[in-house]
Amino acid sequence: MPDVYNWQLGRPMTYRFREAHPKWQFAAVFNINRCIACQTCTMACKSTWTFSEGQEHMWWNNVETKPYGGYPHHWDVNTLKLLDKADPGGQKWDGRTATPAAPYGQFTGKTIFEAAAALGKTDEAIGYLPTDDEWTAPNIFEDTPRNRRESELQATSLPEHRTWFFYLQRICNHCTYPACLAACPRNAIYKRPEDGIVLIDEQRCRGYRKCVEQCPYKKPMFRSTTRVSEKCIACYPRIEGTDPISEGEPMETRCMSACVGKIRLQGLIEVGADGRWAVNPDNPLYYMVREEQVALPLYPQFGTEPNIYYIPPRWVPRPYLHQMFGPGADAAIERYAAPSRRLQAVLQLFRTTQRIVHRFEVVNGHKIGEMNVAGKTMELFNDTVVGFDRNGKEIVRQSVMEPLHDRGPKYLNTI
Ligand code: SF4
Ligand code: SF4
Ligand code: SF4
Repeated sequence: MPDVYNWQLGRPMTYRFREAHPKWQFAAVFNINRCIACQTCTMACKSTWTFSEGQEHMWWNNVETKPYGGYPHHWDVNTLKLLDKADPGGQKWDGRTATPAAPYGQFTGKTIFEAAAALGKTDEAIGYLPTDDEWTAPNIFEDTPRNRRESELQATSLPEHRTWFFYLQRICNHCTYPACLAACPRNAIYKRPEDGIVLIDEQRCRGYRKCVEQCPYKKPMFRSTTRVSEKCIACYPRIEGTDPISEGEPMETRCMSACVGKIRLQGLIEVGADGRWAVNPDNPLYYMVREEQVALPLYPQFGTEPNIYYIPPRWVPRPYLHQMFGPGADAAIERYAAPSRRLQAVLQLFRTTQRIVHRFEVVNGHKIGEMNVAGKTMELFNDTVVGFDRNGKEIVRQSVMEPLHDRGPKYLNTI
């Protein structure tokens, strides 16, 4: 098998195909700290793409309550157990100094691809087919915390709550090295060169469910009425700008643009022929993932190089976050809890427009206050962030301090 470079692992790894990268990569940042689990994203996807017969169990977007919830149930614990079976106790990161090519250090354990080889399997990656039961009840264990019998007083103190849960928002990660694509014996899955979106060609699919088995995030789903697999399509007509209201410019997907909690920012990352992200600190996603490193990949150790990034929840015990987001979790939380002046402005871009922001600028405003965060003084400025589309046209302008609208006593308690 050829070697490909996985920057999230900080090292090469084996993969079925040689490196080939799209010009642009579909990507997003989800801020877990802001999610209220309203499931508006879930229903936006459902009502657009999966409302037909045979798609009843398909939740291409789902929001689950961690640590107990999951769809399908136990998807991550099951895969972590398989990894541990292939390499007992080996799922570790070394503590070496971060570099641009290895921002989280180096993963020394085995990926899902390497674990399959270690176990002598003929499959491309380790995996399993969830049972029918595991595809029921997509929101089971909603709001169920861990350690719920602990004293409430102790439970609610930062930096780590002793009684805790959080919401995890999940769509297909449109991975750089998709396990679903590698697994398919029919070569029915492909990654689009123009935007890195991973799609299933339903004409070629014969329903072997190898993608369902080997995607560690369990995002391909089998449809019994057509006997082929389906998955999140990244709302590609909106990315292509063919939605009538987009005037030909790329738009954010349905689940992103519907988000009530303003937790999602989606965009396109420019990728070089070698797979490295083109350096562009004025792109909001590049800035948060590569420069500020406040947003991290989900289970990077699986090895698929997922392209949805998460700002980790501030209150959750760190060992859990290290396992889920890798060794960058502490630094990401520290940067989010006391954000830099530039990050304060970029966080205001979330859900201010349906258009894809390719570039941002910050216009300096006056100082509006300061506060103490973990012993450090943090200054607040009423800067303005300005977002531009790919043609350089301004599409959004938002101040850090959101305007206060006084509706007067006449309109109190009216909608
Ligand atoms: S719409 Fe946004 S806030 Fe609501 S559940 Fe989805 S991600 Fe969370
Ligand atoms: S998340 Fe799963 S289905 Fe989506 S691209 Fe990655 S491996 Fe494929
Ligand atoms: S990107 Fe589109 S298809 Fe994918 S989960 Fe979101 S709404 Fe559904």
